[in-house]
Amino acid sequence: MPSTMIAAVVEKLGQPLVMRELPIPAPRRGEILVKTEACGVCHTDLHAAKGDWPVKPHVPFVPGHEGIGRVIAVGEGVTTVKEGDRVGVPWLYSACGHCEFCRKGWETQCDSAEYGGYTRNGGFAEYILAAAGYVAHIPERIDPLQAAPIVCAGITTYKGVKETEARPGEWIAISGIGGLGHLAVQYAKAMGLHVAAIDVDDGKLAHAKTLGADLVFNAKQGDPAAALKKEIGGGAHGVLITAPSIPAFHQGIAMTRKLGTCVLVGLPPGDFPTPLFDVVLNRITIRGSLVGTRQDMVEALSFAAEGAVKADIELAPLSGINTVLDRLEHGQVPSRVVLDLRNGVQAQAANA
Ligand code: NAD
Ligand code: ZN
Ligand code: ZN
Repeated sequence: MPSTMIAAVVEKLGQPLVMRELPIPAPRRGEILVKTEACGVCHTDLHAAKGDWPVKPHVPFVPGHEGIGRVIAVGEGVTTVKEGDRVGVPWLYSACGHCEFCRKGWETQCDSAEYGGYTRNGGFAEYILAAAGYVAHIPERIDPLQAAPIVCAGITTYKGVKETEARPGEWIAISGIGGLGHLAVQYAKAMGLHVAAIDVDDGKLAHAKTLGADLVFNAKQGDPAAALKKEIGGGAHGVLITAPSIPAFHQGIAMTRKLGTCVLVGLPPGDFPTPLFDVVLNRITIRGSLVGTRQDMVEALSFAAEGAVKADIELAPLSGINTVLDRLEHGQVPSRVVLDLRNGVQAQAANA
């Protein structure tokens, strides 16, 4: 086995990633080493590389939290994963297992959680070190390239749809039909909801229609909340905002029906004013949602294994990461780009 690997590294926030040769980490107690087959590129990787959020990542770091691969080495004490298993290394890299939130089955809120591709090196690399207890177990029926987006975009939107508390037969409005949103539409349909899709790009909306959206609205062409209410009256029972855009949040509250829940998932930097009168008078719940628990991961993956949800992916080499991030920033990625590392990246690095 080689001793070094190629990784795409953020060395300075706001600067392009750099292809570097790094030592391959050795798994310690409770850890495993994964040989990367694929890693999806999430808009969060862009926020991370730019340092968009109040808690900045420490440079240098390797982004990527949709990494999929085979386990090639296990550390001491690992009993739940074995060599050869296919796993995913998610945003929730690890949690303590003991704090109030872990005890309650809300390990996503753990006080000492680590985040893949943020506080720990992630999947934009040939090998990934992972915490055995927190990896996703990828069913063999799912292609590894297909599995990658499920490990963040899939789990996050599956959980987000559940967090709206919309019931089968009710309406959900999904704002932002990119990597997250195109899976959200499919989860919502599979869960028996009527779906209204909102984006600022007609191509994304046409795609949403093919995925089963019942109504689509372009937020650049008039007020999408007014248009939605005109169609279905009263607004959507659940609203899920994945758009990395502040105006989408105002619109999301305005789309929420009386008694409804508006779930915030997109993470553009900044704040938005809350219309108190509308929220109070209409008894609206505004709720944040962060990825999902290990149980949510099992459930999100099982929809994919059954074929009820399928990511639309475009492949790119690891060396193309800066182009992918640039396209993501400008809304030019149709759904999800997955970095294909099945044949290694040595040749790519030499050309980079
Ligand atoms: P993406 O770039 O693939 O998709 C974003 C979509 O939003 C695009 O289709 C874009 O056209 C659309 N959009 C932009 N402005 C809009 C507006 N005003 N109204 C409606 N749609 C608009 O990004 P992604 O990978 O899907 O991630 C989306 C956001 O979700 C990011 O901010 C990311 O950090 C965040 N995220 C949060 C979690 C979580 O756990 N809460 C998990 C993953 C990603
Ligand atoms: Zn993500
Ligand atoms: Zn904890």
